[in-house]
Amino acid sequence: MAAETYSFQAEINQLMSLIINTFYSNKEIFLRELISNSSDALDKIRYQSLTEKSVLDADSSMEIRLVADKEGKTLTITDSGIGMTKIDLVNNLGTIAKSGTKQFMEALSAGADVSMIGQFGVGFYSAYLVADNVIVRTKHNDDEGYIWESSAGGSFTIRPDDGSLGEPLKRGTSIILHLKEDQQEFLQERRLKDLVKKHSQFIQYPINLWIEKEVTKDVDDEDEAAEENKMEEEKEDDGTKVEDVEDEEEEKKEKKQVKEIVHEWELLNKQKPIWTRKPNEVTKEEYGAFYKSLTNDWEDFLGVKHFSVEGQLEFTGLLFTPKRAPFDLFEPKKKMNNIKLYVKKVFIMDNCEDIIPEWLNFVKGVVDSEDLPLNISREMLQQNKILKVIRKNLVKKCMEMFAELAENKEEYKTFYEQFSKNLKLGIHEDQSNADKLADLLRYNTSKCPDEMTSLKEYVSRMKEGQKNIYYIIGESKKAVENSPFLERLRKKGYEVIFMTEPIDEYCVQQLKEYDGKKLMCLTKEGIELEETDEEKAAKEEEKKAYETLCTVIKDILGDRVEKVVVSERLADSPCILVTGEYGWSANMERIVKAQALRDSSLSMYMSPRKTMEINPGNAIIKELKGRLEADKADKTAKDLIMLLFDTSLLTSGFSLDEPNVFASRIHRMIRLGLSLDDDEPVEEKMETDAPTDEAAAEVTALEDVD
Ligand code: ADP
Repeated sequence: MAAETYSFQAEINQLMSLIINTFYSNKEIFLRELISNSSDALDKIRYQSLTEKSVLDADSSMEIRLVADKEGKTLTITDSGIGMTKIDLVNNLGTIAKSGTKQFMEALSAGADVSMIGQFGVGFYSAYLVADNVIVRTKHNDDEGYIWESSAGGSFTIRPDDGSLGEPLKRGTSIILHLKEDQQEFLQERRLKDLVKKHSQFIQYPINLWIEKEVTKDVDDEDEAAEENKMEEEKEDDGTKVEDVEDEEEEKKEKKQVKEIVHEWELLNKQKPIWTRKPNEVTKEEYGAFYKSLTNDWEDFLGVKHFSVEGQLEFTGLLFTPKRAPFDLFEPKKKMNNIKLYVKKVFIMDNCEDIIPEWLNFVKGVVDSEDLPLNISREMLQQNKILKVIRKNLVKKCMEMFAELAENKEEYKTFYEQFSKNLKLGIHEDQSNADKLADLLRYNTSKCPDEMTSLKEYVSRMKEGQKNIYYIIGESKKAVENSPFLERLRKKGYEVIFMTEPIDEYCVQQLKEYDGKKLMCLTKEGIELEETDEEKAAKEEEKKAYETLCTVIKDILGDRVEKVVVSERLADSPCILVTGEYGWSANMERIVKAQALRDSSLSMYMSPRKTMEINPGNAIIKELKGRLEADKADKTAKDLIMLLFDTSLLTSGFSLDEPNVFASRIHRMIRLGLSLDDDEPVEEKMETDAPTDEAAAEVTALEDVD
């Protein structure tokens, strides 16, 4: 059958051009990527073989082999992994782009390093860093053998494996790289050995390199003939080149020396699995090397936790916190984690569902169980009690790992910037660990606006007599920092926590208390500030004095507010709007409104009921009190109340439903300030009531249009 030609999908083609043409010196990473693919392919066949032994019939070996052919200028990486069917070849190597293809190119143009390629799931193409022609021979149990070949340039071919490239594979994949002229260094044994040691020493399958070596042998005279015969046989057997360089003159009486060049496989990764060693015997560098080989991360890890659980259940875990969140951390479709499950050192599966909760999906590592059966399937695992215990322990160990990170402020800052959302999600989802997770939270506060502080530190700074923890939640630090809600607390010297991320809303819904102290939202009802008896008595008096004003304002505002009360939290501003203790906050309403697929029926129930709080200490309120008590129908006063309501919507974190109406009120105020006549062109909406006197003329200009 002739070769079929296919075009590379456009993005893949673009990626290949970029790989080929970008100047990039660290080309060696291609080997790590290809070995890692081989290791994945071996994982797959091993996993299949656990439930179906016969899949190994064709070839029972599980290894990776490297052969450098100096004459042919090729480097070949062969594995006895799962292989690819013809359809796999077409799909995986050229026609279907993954989301990572584009993301990787974007990352590159933003200055990312080519060595990050593995993280984006396009590692195969790194072969083109060093090769101008790549051949993939592969054999899957379910299909015949095929050969994929491409010299880039937009297309690749696939043809049946007719044995022209050597004996057909029994199962697995062979990647043959025709190295570019300037990349011949990758044919050197020393270079390959160093590379495997550097990047791939923790691969779980043997990596064997076909090496050449010279051996000197003493040969007895008598045995000589027999020895030579034997060598002749070897030559035929495996093609080993044998050179007899004996020197006739140096020949001793009975013995002579023979130098031979022999070829053999040398195992390059002799390390036993790192997690089976004792933690105190593993160096940080070794953890680092293992982490990189496990994750393809180009950066070092941030935190590590290596532990064994013994007793009724035995398992070992080695967990890492990366320095950086992956590009697709919160992608909704991505429902996987980064924990590899082993049973008695045998790899079982990646992304084992339920082994770790979703909020910890950034933690990477391995778990090796002594108790799970080797032939366990994904389905069986989900119901497995052992897995539940493992999961519980992993959560605990992760939290310990984070707490250890928190001991170093700088490190923790890096961690928190990347993963605070995960911690907050954890609090929202995992009630049983919420208290411990709360210890890991950090916020800016009114006392530390530029530094992050913990709840524990907040509590240690609480004023005498302060019972609650106060927080304010809003769109940004700027928005909350100068909010009128803070006024009284500032005066009392109370510290207020600033929460400015959407997820904080979800987090505090769960976290109602910390260290026995209630978390109180400053923008909601029910705020009670601790006060002396005299203060209380004075407040009561004020309340009484302003009762009538409250009723009048409520009448003016109608359904816009639930009620109007005298404020406990204001010191300077005239008024604010607070929301019910249990409904949404203004900020939450903003977040929900921003969600494209929101359920509008929910908004009906949850939309915040607003209570207006007025500040009796404020001169505007005092003045309005006088005016409205004298004349309930005072139009200027009424209009000003409307304006106050609108401005407090803004200062309290709500948005305006009718910005135009608000704007025309302000415009009228401006006209007034500029003493413009009514003759000047005015907006169409102007009231038509004729003014009766000069004072009334002003009032008219201000009248409400609602
Ligand atoms: P990734 O390995 O991250 O998925 P790659 O671009 O490296 O991305 O490889 C693409 C796909 O090609 C792999 O997902 C796998 O299905 C297939 N593949 C690559 N190398 C091998 C191999 N040695 N054996 C079997 N399949 C392979």
